[in-house]
Amino acid sequence: MGLIFHSIEAYHLALKAGTVSCEEAVAHYLTAIDRQKDLNAYLRVYGAEALEKARVLDGRRKAGEPMGKLHGVVIGIKDVIAYKGHGLTAASRILEDYVSIYNATAVGKLLAEEAIIIGALNCDEFAMGSSNENSAFGNVLNARCKDRVPGGSSGGSAVAVQAGLCMVSLGSDTGGSVRQPADFCGILGLKPSYGRVSRYGLIAYASSFDVIGIFGKTVADVASILEVISGEDEFDSTVKRGGGPSISADARAEFATMVDQADDRKYRIAYFKEALEHPGLDEEMRTAILDRTGEWKAAGHTVEAIDFELLDYIVPAYYVLTTAEASSNLARFDGVRYGYRTPATDLELTEFYKRTRSQGFGKEVQRRILLGTFVLSAGYYDAYFTKAQQVRQLLVERTELIFKDFDIIILPTAPSTAWRIGEKTDDPISMYLADIYTVYANLTGIPGISLPLFVHTNGMPFGLQAMTNRFNEVSLLQFSHRMMQQ
Ligand code: GLN
Repeated sequence: MGLIFHSIEAYHLALKAGTVSCEEAVAHYLTAIDRQKDLNAYLRVYGAEALEKARVLDGRRKAGEPMGKLHGVVIGIKDVIAYKGHGLTAASRILEDYVSIYNATAVGKLLAEEAIIIGALNCDEFAMGSSNENSAFGNVLNARCKDRVPGGSSGGSAVAVQAGLCMVSLGSDTGGSVRQPADFCGILGLKPSYGRVSRYGLIAYASSFDVIGIFGKTVADVASILEVISGEDEFDSTVKRGGGPSISADARAEFATMVDQADDRKYRIAYFKEALEHPGLDEEMRTAILDRTGEWKAAGHTVEAIDFELLDYIVPAYYVLTTAEASSNLARFDGVRYGYRTPATDLELTEFYKRTRSQGFGKEVQRRILLGTFVLSAGYYDAYFTKAQQVRQLLVERTELIFKDFDIIILPTAPSTAWRIGEKTDDPISMYLADIYTVYANLTGIPGISLPLFVHTNGMPFGLQAMTNRFNEVSLLQFSHRMMQQ
């Protein structure tokens, strides 16, 4: 049964042939979820509702009605993405009992194409973290090795696909939260360009970085989901409007060409010398990636090491800017309008806010709100916030120059394979530094994907990260498909 669900295409063929039904698909995943509860990937499972929806779809298909692009596709969503009438916690106590009153645009688009949302997935609280250990509802286990972390912040979304608990899933990526857990779990994780997918209904962490991303097992599946969820939206003015290549316009045609015919395009590939030479990068991972670039060269692609002297500035710039934005975005969780409120009734207002927020938010979220408030404070604004913005601008300019000469930038996705649970929890700085290879794409707004190409001798998978220029997802997916086939 599992094989039928290996790709959306295989599943749709089986549905059309009548060898499987949507109801059987949902039942299959519900059983799998139940059997692997210990992974803690799902915060809530919408079993009865998903089965009911599947029966309705089966009925419509059998009656000869046309199938939506995602007819019966079983999807899990990270619990920072709004689904009307369903809980939405951001894995935080402060939103524990909150129920969403509207759909995120991405969710609305999935449902319009007849996808079935089977449940909400665990993550780091407010998407802040790299290991899923910051969830108020317990950590998620890496299915490949249960004493290791799945990565974060979209750890539940990665494990759900890794362990076969849904076909594809949605996460969010502010600084690597889709690519890094995909890397740790041995699956594909795509962060689209900033402004490709509407952020409406995505709980904000750092609004100028946040984007909804996709986990899957095949490039074609990831492309199908991207095609559905991307596109302009009257509720998010930062989404790209008209003009320029749009995924929905050309993805299908180009993708079909690429799959049907041998793609013999020769790519111009760059990597950052400082990134591959970085002392923090695992030696075996460095060798595997460099060996692979050797194979690409032999196949006729150009691969060049380029200087990237800004590498050491990107993690500090990222943490200054994102904590600043977070301190402002999270100000709305004050216990007055909605969400958790301290039970104490005898407090004056400031004390009431303090008590509510200290009880409602976990340690990491509090740390970031404090840090963000500090970097925005009058005496320090220029030294930190303005400086970090200047670094961001330099990165954008440098990136534009690089893409004049190259089609693809490659980097490791993370400096090591998944670490052991608890290994970095007392050392937030070392956890932040592990984001060294992913935050670059968020600072510059370009799309990035983690491709599951390698297995370490420690038994854990690791990926290779590829990036293209902004809004060039079609090339990125074509390149990815090609690399996955070799
Ligand atoms: N690990 C990064 C952070 O904690 C990325 C998080 C994300 O992409 N949501 O900020």
